[in-house]
Amino acid sequence: MSSQICDQHVDWRSLGHRYYPLNLFFQRKFGCRVQKISLDGGFTCPNVDGTVAIGGCTFCDNRAFSPSRRVRRDAIESQIQRGIDGLRRRYNSEKFIAYFQPATNTYGPLDKLRMLWETALADERIVGLVIGTRPDCVPDEVLDLVDEFAERTYVSLELGVQTIHDASLQWMNRGHDHAAAVEAMQRTAGRKFEVSLHIMLGLPGETHEMMMETARQTADWNPAGVKIHNLYAVHRTRLADQIASGEVRLMEMEEYVDILADFLEHLPPQMVIERISGDAPPRDLVAPAWVLEKGSIKQQLIETLQKRGTVQGARYEPKVARALDATG
Ligand code: SF4
Repeated sequence: MSSQICDQHVDWRSLGHRYYPLNLFFQRKFGCRVQKISLDGGFTCPNVDGTVAIGGCTFCDNRAFSPSRRVRRDAIESQIQRGIDGLRRRYNSEKFIAYFQPATNTYGPLDKLRMLWETALADERIVGLVIGTRPDCVPDEVLDLVDEFAERTYVSLELGVQTIHDASLQWMNRGHDHAAAVEAMQRTAGRKFEVSLHIMLGLPGETHEMMMETARQTADWNPAGVKIHNLYAVHRTRLADQIASGEVRLMEMEEYVDILADFLEHLPPQMVIERISGDAPPRDLVAPAWVLEKGSIKQQLIETLQKRGTVQGARYEPKVARALDATG
């Protein structure tokens, strides 16, 4: 394995896809349907506990994992069993990936990380790990540990990059700048695990060109996968207040789908598109309501690409080629 998917690359176009979907990647890699089980490892976040900031990102309802209110979660084994019971009923899956999702899942001592990952992998139905974290929380000793696990199983490290623009990172109170993402990507290069990036579209003040700059940088980094969604608000966040006061405008579905199609066209064809829309439970969502229409978003995206006669990668240009174009 490498941080770029080469051996797993399949010609998704010949199968009728307009982009390389995660379920196809899993099907090819594991030979069957694989579902992720979201696991809470009891972490907090340096953007919540005051280490780099307080209050967290403007869109994040982080009360559940603020250190003062952090409640003890069920044992990992129980979370896995509950997750498998639910997913089996819905999808009839036999293999699962342990997804350490809420908060910052590398923000803790190495022995805690090792114990959590070992516990998850002790269940033979778990065929891999996905670890969600921030670019400023992946010191080399953590990457070494992730590498060690990647020698025996599939591991994807999810980095919340969101955007390459510092003004946007400041707006969201992210607590790290773009340089932190650049540095993290440099240090993950050549490792055994895969890297997946989280990207947000429709951030206040970002023009279409700024979002395409993020697309081109994402393409240049060439991670194994990318998770993309529009800016949306959940209850009990500063973003929800900003929307209520009219300070922030959210994109309409058509606008988002158009930009998403542009974004995908800039990415290389071998990059797995792990997500194309947000994922808020209906009871938590403030706006926009269309985030819940996942099927419509996907359908509109496919129709948009069909009308254009394009696919993921249609406008992808490796950095070297762009540099040559620029010099004429
Ligand atoms: S880095 Fe992640 S967990 Fe921390 S406040 Fe931001 S969104 Fe929430």
